[in-house]
Amino acid sequence: MIDYQAVIDRILAEVRNLDCRGRVADYIPALAEVDPNHSAIAVDMLDGRSFRAGDADVPFSIQSISKVFTLAMVFPEIGEELWKSVGREPSGNPFNSLVQLENEHGIPRNPFINAGALVVTDRLISMYPRPKEAMLDFVRSLAGNDDIYFDSRVATSEREHADRNMSLAYFMKSFGNIHNDVERLIDVYCHQCSIAMSCADVARSFRLFANRGVNPADGRRVLTESQSKRLGAVMSTCGFYDESGDFAYRVGLPGKSGVGGGIAAYIPGKLSVAVWSPGLNSYGNSLAGIEMLERFTTDIRRSIF
Ligand code: GLU
Repeated sequence: MIDYQAVIDRILAEVRNLDCRGRVADYIPALAEVDPNHSAIAVDMLDGRSFRAGDADVPFSIQSISKVFTLAMVFPEIGEELWKSVGREPSGNPFNSLVQLENEHGIPRNPFINAGALVVTDRLISMYPRPKEAMLDFVRSLAGNDDIYFDSRVATSEREHADRNMSLAYFMKSFGNIHNDVERLIDVYCHQCSIAMSCADVARSFRLFANRGVNPADGRRVLTESQSKRLGAVMSTCGFYDESGDFAYRVGLPGKSGVGGGIAAYIPGKLSVAVWSPGLNSYGNSLAGIEMLERFTTDIRRSIF
């Protein structure tokens, strides 16, 4: 029987000793000021056990991890039709790139690059009169934590530095692929990026995917088993920006990262895991976070491969 607590304690201690700090995201001051020395691991088993190491209860900015939550809200509503507006192939380009959109007629490559996430959030706005509240309610229900909040400082700062996301949105609107007002869309998108959650919250919320679409917190089916499988497939091919192949090679799990330094991943039918270390590599993924997850799947000898 695996002693998960011993495994994550050891990994955290080992990785803290390595010189793999990376660079904290600095495109907005609210992220640049985050202490790079934070690190955490949280594991939630579907049998109800949970294991925590390091700063697992300290909230951080989930950033692009939120793209999975919005997709999980929109996909069941729109179904397969969604893939007419956003693709499901790796992009081979940075997360905020504009270049492919022109050739591909305003259809983003996948829902986890910014352009694709903007399309998904646009559809969310069409679904809910109060999309920000709906989003917060959704993640709170998954994590079982009503204290999860929008970090208003991060949201404001995101909004002040949103020129590129605005460009992506207007460009896609010119192809008819954004249906709502772009200012409103960017406001909702900046808020989703600013959601603050701890590693414990993120691991708990990713049990939804480990549990094949049923939220273990309340037994409610959110995604069909097939939708959960498909969402996991997109995470494993596109969840790590332009480093998705290397993440699959090293870690072997579906998951999603964010430039706040968090990574969430899971083993279907078994467990969810979240790690946090704010220093990023050149692809925008947590440097120590990937290292921790690689050691985790190696130690427990489980991955999806
Ligand atoms: N707020 C960031 C942006 O849209 C999110 C980046 C990320 O985590 O990938 O530029």
